[in-house]
Amino acid sequence: MIPEPQFDELYRELILDHYRRPRNRGKLAAPTAHAEGMNPVCGDEITLDLALAQGRIEDIAFGGAGCSISQSSASMMTSRVKGCTIEEAGHLSVQFKEMLEGGEPARDLGDLEALQGVSKFPVRVKCALLGWKVLEEGLQQVNQA
Ligand code: ZN
Repeated sequence: MIPEPQFDELYRELILDHYRRPRNRGKLAAPTAHAEGMNPVCGDEITLDLALAQGRIEDIAFGGAGCSISQSSASMMTSRVKGCTIEEAGHLSVQFKEMLEGGEPARDLGDLEALQGVSKFPVRVKCALLGWKVLEEGLQQVNQA
């Protein structure tokens, strides 16, 4: 059994809300980048479509399946980075990782701060980071193009 983090009620509701009503779920009609990844420990999968223009994430959509933490984190991530520049998204990704891996206090992360409690569960950190890992892969494709 993978241990389940206990969240404050407010955070728990936010996570379940993103899990049950995921934001930006689906596919884009004309993505400029696509990436996918999985977390075999938990069986989580995330696919990501990105539409980038002038160094900015104009649109983003995710798909996949998995535990509530992986899916809600991906939903929160897409909401947070939509409209951001690639550079801003990179900074947010670093902040989110520092929050989860180092227990650093979160800044500017919006709903994603609800996932701070995951930092005490290293196995679940992989679930929460999956969407961001896939995002970084998608953004790298653009840098190489
Ligand atoms: Zn998971």
